[in-house]
Amino acid sequence: ATPTAVMVGTGVGAINGILIKGGLPLERAHKVNTVIFDKTGTITRGTPQVYSVHLFGDCCLPFLISLIGTAESSSEHPIANAIVDHAKKILCIEQLGHVTNFNNFAGLGIECDVTSLDAVIKEAYKHGVYISSTEDFKLSYHIIVGNQEWMKQKNIFIATEINEMMEKQENNGHSHVFCAIDGKLVAVIMIADQIKVEAHLAVYTLKKMGLDVVLLTGDNIKTAEHVARQVGIEDVFGEVLPSDKVAVIKWLQSQNKVVAMVGDGVNDSPALAQADIGIAIGSGTDVAVEAADVVLIQNDLLDVANAILLSSKTVQRIK
Ligand code: ADP
Ligand code: MG
Repeated sequence: ATPTAVMVGTGVGAINGILIKGGLPLERAHKVNTVIFDKTGTITRGTPQVYSVHLFGDCCLPFLISLIGTAESSSEHPIANAIVDHAKKILCIEQLGHVTNFNNFAGLGIECDVTSLDAVIKEAYKHGVYISSTEDFKLSYHIIVGNQEWMKQKNIFIATEINEMMEKQENNGHSHVFCAIDGKLVAVIMIADQIKVEAHLAVYTLKKMGLDVVLLTGDNIKTAEHVARQVGIEDVFGEVLPSDKVAVIKWLQSQNKVVAMVGDGVNDSPALAQADIGIAIGSGTDVAVEAADVVLIQNDLLDVANAILLSSKTVQRIK
């Protein structure tokens, strides 16, 4: 390879907001025949919002949201951020309670103990929000939040009616998480994320170029399928744990696929490293940006196709 062609190629990329880390990825990218997209934060904007809370039993909303909001304040997941923002907004407070014994299980959910609810109650009360409980307040509550699989692992019973209700909701492409307080399922929080405006065109362009396009996500399969349909992707892998994203890529590679993985999250970094070309969204986490071969500085999904085209042009110039 001529160093000049590589220099020109990376230079043109840089000017256009496509950061290519060296000659190797630049020369390899044109061989890609399969592009895998992560969902949350890649195809969708990754700033989801709570749009409804379904309560079960006699748990009251401010009480529930103060506990779940506090628990999620220890997580950095986009879903957690959505719940924390929602809690602060409806309780009219800035500071949530304390969290101990926090555990985050990637791709599943969280588990922790919440204390100091009294401070939250006082603060909210000052703003006219009354947090009440059906029982006397306790010093500590055990909180579990996450997906269906996480509830199963934690032995939280989900009634059939609730599952049926959720199945209908999932068809709308929205995510949801189950919430348990002291071992009992008390609510489901519905969360909506917006699909990026250019996502459909980006997928269309890649397909026109003859590439296979795949969606890979830890989210619920129905939610994943709905999002995929909206952007024109037919091949979907849903409910894939972060550790298994690598396995999916390895499997595709064993089928003679040359794989580009596009992602943004900490969870995606092993997959970005495993792919023949790892492509990170510029606004993604540092870990993802570091693990990737290509960084899309302008956060524009159309630049996935542009990066591949740039590679083809560079290689033609070398030959
Ligand atoms: P993606 O691959 O779409 O980025 P993740 O692998 O990060 O998704 O998460 C998969 C699922 O795990 C989420 O849809 C959610 O149900 C659950 N989950 C992960 N982290 C949390 C959290 N902090 N709170 C609640 N649920 C969570
Ligand atoms: Mg993501």
